[in-house]
Parts: sequence; structure tokens; C-alpha cells
Amino acid sequence: MARRKKIYEGKAKILYEGPEPGTIVQYFKDDATAFNAQKKDVIEGKGVLNNRLSEFFMVGLADVGVPTHFLRRLNMREQLVRACEIIPLEIIVRNFAAGSMSQRLGIEEGTRLPRPIVEYCFKDDSLGDPLVSEEHILAFNWATQQDLDDIIHLALRVNDFLSGVMRGVGIRLVDFKIEVGRVYEGDFQRLVVADEISPDSCRLWDIETGEKLDKDVFRRDLGNLTDAYTEVAKRLGVLPKTNGPAKPRLIN
Ligand code: UDP
Repeated sequence: MARRKKIYEGKAKILYEGPEPGTIVQYFKDDATAFNAQKKDVIEGKGVLNNRLSEFFMVGLADVGVPTHFLRRLNMREQLVRACEIIPLEIIVRNFAAGSMSQRLGIEEGTRLPRPIVEYCFKDDSLGDPLVSEEHILAFNWATQQDLDDIIHLALRVNDFLSGVMRGVGIRLVDFKIEVGRVYEGDFQRLVVADEISPDSCRLWDIETGEKLDKDVFRRDLGNLTDAYTEVAKRLGVLPKTNGPAKPRLIN
């Protein structure tokens, strides 16, 4: 097989040129990083789980009419996506206070917010992805006012969908991060949900016990990350629910 051209390697994924123009292959690695990559490890099976979970969420979003970059899963670790121009923002939606918001505003983790709150961080690892306001985004031309209106609309639709899906399997969606990209169709452009949606980019707490089922397990040394992600996948029916071997067994 001809060697594929690597386009970009990030902390958790590698992007390769896709088989057709306008497509990209996303390869999910087992690498886990936290605190702007100051903490690092390789978590066996994480990439396989995130590939499947992200597929599950992206397909579900498309089903309810939310556009995404996802085209199809190729194999255990790879999916084909539409090439898009990523807007250099991390879009965070919070339903309950946690993490950096709790620290910044002194609100106890787990406090329900009066309504979903959307925040933006400028995507720049060297700066630690700083929180920015709409003023920064517009003044520095990272996105237009129309883009921001579309981004908020997309983010809140993703929030409603993910919150509902999670609630159905006894999981609270505390917060999550998405990235949004531009795709061009003739003379028109539109925004789509891009990157990934997985327990790496969400906070997921068991509704009954409060157990954390997301990357905080790694960030805060709370146990085995693969077990937590496997639990999410099993509840969602992405993995068989039977007590099989500890390692993820994938159904097609
Ligand atoms: N998040 C992410 N990537 C980042 C920063 C945050 O996926 O680079 C997610 C994180 O997993 C959580 C939400 O965005 O679900 C809010 O994160 P927060 O701002 O609280 O940052 P943290 O406490 O994780 O540093």
C-alpha cells in the first residue's frame, strides 16, 4: 500500500490525506495528555474506543440534522472525514460547574448552572488555550458575527442531543468541548461539527453515584481510563454489554 501523506499530528490523533480530494483520515492514538501535555501516558485501547464513540455521536448528530465532518469509519482506529477549515476556537458548553470554571469563579464542582453557558478558548497550545470573549474573536477576525451565531446554535444543539443521549444511559453531561470547521459548497460555506466528540472532550458523571467516566479519571488519577470509557461505550450499546474480556471487543 502506498504510504499516506501525514498532514498533522496532534496530541490524540494523526491526520492523513484521504483517498479522495477533500477527505482526511483521522487516526485515533492511545496517547493521553493533560494540563497542556505536562502529564502524558499511553492508555491501551483508548484510541479504539474514542474512534467508535466519536462515530456514534457524529452519526447521531447527523440523524437529528446537525451537520458534521464525519463520513464513515474505516477500521478500528481510523475514520474518514470531510476536510474543513478549522476555526481556531475550542467551543465549550457547560451545564454544571466543573474544572476551570469552578476554579475561575469559585463555584463548587457539580453546581447546576442557571442555563447552558458557552465559552470560547483560542486554540493555541503555546498559550495554553486561553479563554477569550466574542470581542477578541471579532476584533482578531478568527470568526465573523454570523459564524458566532451559527456556532452558538450548533453548540446548543449538540448539547441538547448529547445531554439527552447520556441521560438515557444514566450519565450526566457536565460539560464538553467541540471544534467547528468551514466547508465550502460551490459559492457557499457552512459550518460543521469537526474534530471528535468522545470522553476525552466531555465531562461525564454517573447520575446515581457521581463516578467520573471521562478524562478526569486520567487527569486526577482516579482509576483506569479504559475501564471508564468502556463503561460509557457499553451503556450506549457501542460495545456489547456482556461481561467479556477486559479489553474492548468491537462489534461491527
Ligand atoms: N476540554 C477539551 N480540551 C481542552 C480543554 C477542555 O476537550 O483543551 C474539555 C474538557 O474535557 C471539559 C471541557 O472541555 O469537558 C471544559 O474544560 P475546562 O475548561 O474545565 O478545562 P480543564 O479543567 O479540563 O482544564
